[in-house]
Amino acid sequence: MLTRRPHGSHPPRPAVALLAGGVGAARFLRGLVRHVPQSRLTVAVNTGDDEEFYGLHVSPDLDTITYTLAGVVDPRQGWGLAGDSFAALGALARFYGAPWFRLGDRDLATHIFRTARLKQGAPLSAVTAEIARRFGVRARVLPMSDDRVRTFVRLKRGGLVPFQDYFVRRRFRARVQAIELRGLFRARPLPALLEAIARCAAVILAPSNPFVSLGPILRLSGVAAALRKVRPRVAAISPLIRGRAVKGPAHRMMRTLGHQPSALGVARLYRDVAGIFVLDRSDRRYAEAIERLGMRPIVTDILMNSEQAAARLAKVVLDAVGL
Ligand code: GDP
Ligand code: CA
Repeated sequence: MLTRRPHGSHPPRPAVALLAGGVGAARFLRGLVRHVPQSRLTVAVNTGDDEEFYGLHVSPDLDTITYTLAGVVDPRQGWGLAGDSFAALGALARFYGAPWFRLGDRDLATHIFRTARLKQGAPLSAVTAEIARRFGVRARVLPMSDDRVRTFVRLKRGGLVPFQDYFVRRRFRARVQAIELRGLFRARPLPALLEAIARCAAVILAPSNPFVSLGPILRLSGVAAALRKVRPRVAAISPLIRGRAVKGPAHRMMRTLGHQPSALGVARLYRDVAGIFVLDRSDRRYAEAIERLGMRPIVTDILMNSEQAAARLAKVVLDAVGL
């Protein structure tokens, strides 16, 4: 009997894939890794936010995820390295003027390494794996694509600006009229991302911004189709609680882009790709409407204000997908 396992051994733990933006996804990850060993985890990350500063290729969401998995992320900000200093940024001001995008001294090493490897011709996925390995990360961290996709934001007043200009420089105060993903139609999703969706026991859509974090991943050709095939084991977590983003502009974007700024509005965005929708207790009045969308609503506490809260939410999500 070839299929019989040696006495006492356990079946392999089910594999889990997380589709991720930055800080919201990282908060959830801190809880998820309490239940799923990193070796069984694939995290596919948005790269629409990538930007060049000082000639360096910066991948904010990839770094937030990698630093979180490595346990070295700055716990207060949720991005950057804990205990980093900012001397180089001050010195760069001599040449470039006052900085509006903060890059720590130690963090710069990551961007220098990434830029140099890309310049040598290595694909971003290979460089990302190298960076993760050097930080001791055992999970598989994937950029959504090796091709270049860049998120631009069309402002009601202010024209079309690169995402970081809107998000960091203007502190997402301006009114958003449209999101444009340059390069999207030519970009191919990373094959490993499509494989992870097809093979993992569960796929989780992190509580990330639906338009500028998960949007770029979901709109890559073939990703939504792959998710639809496994829809019953795809769970999405609301980034909105009581109609507001926990952090950032998601609720305002919902409104100005023509969607209801609520958990129900988010559920509508994901109804084709996710069979399960996780929303906050304070939003439980939407559960029936979500059910009518053909999704299984899971009502629980989704504010992750501690690692314990994140771990508890992760457990609820894993239970919901049957793991
Ligand atoms: P970014 O790329 O760093 O902006 O990060 P994401 O797109 O991954 O995360 C931003 C989203 O995370 C926002 O829409 C927040 O509402 C959401 N978020 C942050 N903290 C929490 C939390 O504790 N619970 C939930 N449900 N969502 C959160
Ligand atoms: Ca981001």
